[in-house]
Amino acid sequence: MDNLDRFMTVAEQVLNDRFIKYMQQPCRLVLRLNGLTEQHKRRLDSLRMRDRRKLFSFDTLIVGRTPPLGYLKRAAYACAAKGCTYVGYIEQRLARQRESPGQCPVCAERYLAGLAQEEREMAMRFLPRSKYRMNDEELRYIDVQYLSVMDVVPDGDGPWSIGQHVWTAVVDEDFVDEYPVGSLVRLHATVHVDHLPERTFDKDTRRVMILRVEGIEMLDEPATHFDDVTWTSEPSWR
Ligand SMILES: [Zn+2]
Repeated sequence: MDNLDRFMTVAEQVLNDRFIKYMQQPCRLVLRLNGLTEQHKRRLDSLRMRDRRKLFSFDTLIVGRTPPLGYLKRAAYACAAKGCTYVGYIEQRLARQRESPGQCPVCAERYLAGLAQEEREMAMRFLPRSKYRMNDEELRYIDVQYLSVMDVVPDGDGPWSIGQHVWTAVVDEDFVDEYPVGSLVRLHATVHVDHLPERTFDKDTRRVMILRVEGIEMLDEPATHFDDVTWTSEPSWR
């Protein structure tokens, strides 16, 4: 399951490429996971660092959520060199420093054209650094939202018991703002490791576990089973 992220990205690309010609209005298809087996079931409170990149199902209560946010999913960089038309696309990752492209391959080829193999290798090391402009019209943003979630153990009519800790899950696109505080949901999610969002120095080694949600099923009507829950509008890592 290490490559689930990559699988989802590639599968969505294939899906969209295949169906774009049938679309009346341009839209984007989103791939979702559903109906994982009992073996994937897991309690949030049992998660540890060794679980990173793995996929599980969690029965949860949503105790808080942020307003909808956006993140830069794909950036387009146009080479700024005179006469060069190269545009590089870079898929960005959530909550990471924006990555920019390296050497422009078109410009590099212009500098190296006509050189012999040994000369090329030497010249490659001294290529001038490419400059880029971000191409605003080709930036792609994705809507995301952070949910604060806790374990629930469904128990007939209630009272349902809840877990010890508040965990953070990220949902995107069609899931944003669809699940209000108080929703009882089964999340199919991969465990990711992230920087503390408000770290105060660059090389802070502390990490938090964050769930990237790939699918959601409703467990029940919004919870009235709980009286000792602190509802929050802040993400749990604050
Ligand atoms: Zn260039």
